[in-house]
Amino acid sequence: MLENYEMIRAELPWFYPLLAFVFGAVVGSFLNVCIYRIPKNVSVISPPSTCACGVRIPWYFNLPILSWFMLRGRAACCEQGFSFRYPMVELLTGLIFVACWLQFPPLLAVTGMFFAALLLVATFIDLDHMIIPDRCSIGGMCGGVILSFFIPGLHGLEGTGLGAHLESGVTASIGAIVGAGLVYWLAVLGEVILRKPAMGEGDVKFLGCIGAFCGWQGALFGLFGGAVIGCAVLLPIMLLGRIFGWKQTIIDEEAGTEAVVTFGSCVPFGPMLAVAGLLYFLGFNTYVDAYLSEALALFRAF
Ligand SMILES: [Zn+2]
Repeated sequence: MLENYEMIRAELPWFYPLLAFVFGAVVGSFLNVCIYRIPKNVSVISPPSTCACGVRIPWYFNLPILSWFMLRGRAACCEQGFSFRYPMVELLTGLIFVACWLQFPPLLAVTGMFFAALLLVATFIDLDHMIIPDRCSIGGMCGGVILSFFIPGLHGLEGTGLGAHLESGVTASIGAIVGAGLVYWLAVLGEVILRKPAMGEGDVKFLGCIGAFCGWQGALFGLFGGAVIGCAVLLPIMLLGRIFGWKQTIIDEEAGTEAVVTFGSCVPFGPMLAVAGLLYFLGFNTYVDAYLSEALALFRAF
């Protein structure tokens, strides 16, 4: 079987990446369900996909990416439009899965896909509702630590002995604690300076999850890299929003209130953490780790 795998890999180099893409698109379709249903506390498995009008969607109208284009964004049953975000999430998941496949050996690639799926769900739920569900953050943190015990390669450790497994698990635990701790203290500091909650409890747990998969260096990069990405993306958007008078509606589901504010003035931090965490996982780690160990050496020299 391994022979076949190597043979296909050599003869048809595009075959496995294509498979990873299709797998990603299918998973992306499931992630759309998670993004929609988890905040509503509805099971992600049953009932099967239904249209907003209540009609069950047949499988041939439920194909990842393709269906949206086949139907031109309108439901076949009632002609209601459905968001372009659905095929976008599927496409994005497919592309990230290909990146994981090309970057890592198979087992690590699959672990990376799992991590990416968590990040994607948390990102879009945070964009919609300004919350990160515990299932993604705490679940991901525990999942990351457990997976690390079994897959030392996740933290760049070689060897298959018990030592490597334990070291990997400890690395993940330290990452989770550092990640959650960092945001916690930054949130406290932000509240003192800004006199309003700067970061949510969800972000604390979420950076813990990134730390479990990426180690403390990844958690550190997630926070500071995320802040840089956030500024780079947000400043132009906020500026344009000011100029053109764009508004955004904030819905507080718990209080049942709606507020209209200037576009970009209320933005979740989770997506920035997620982008930085994914970049670190997919290759930035080489640079970040080198930079951090240099900085540490400098620190020690004093
Ligand atoms: Zn319908």
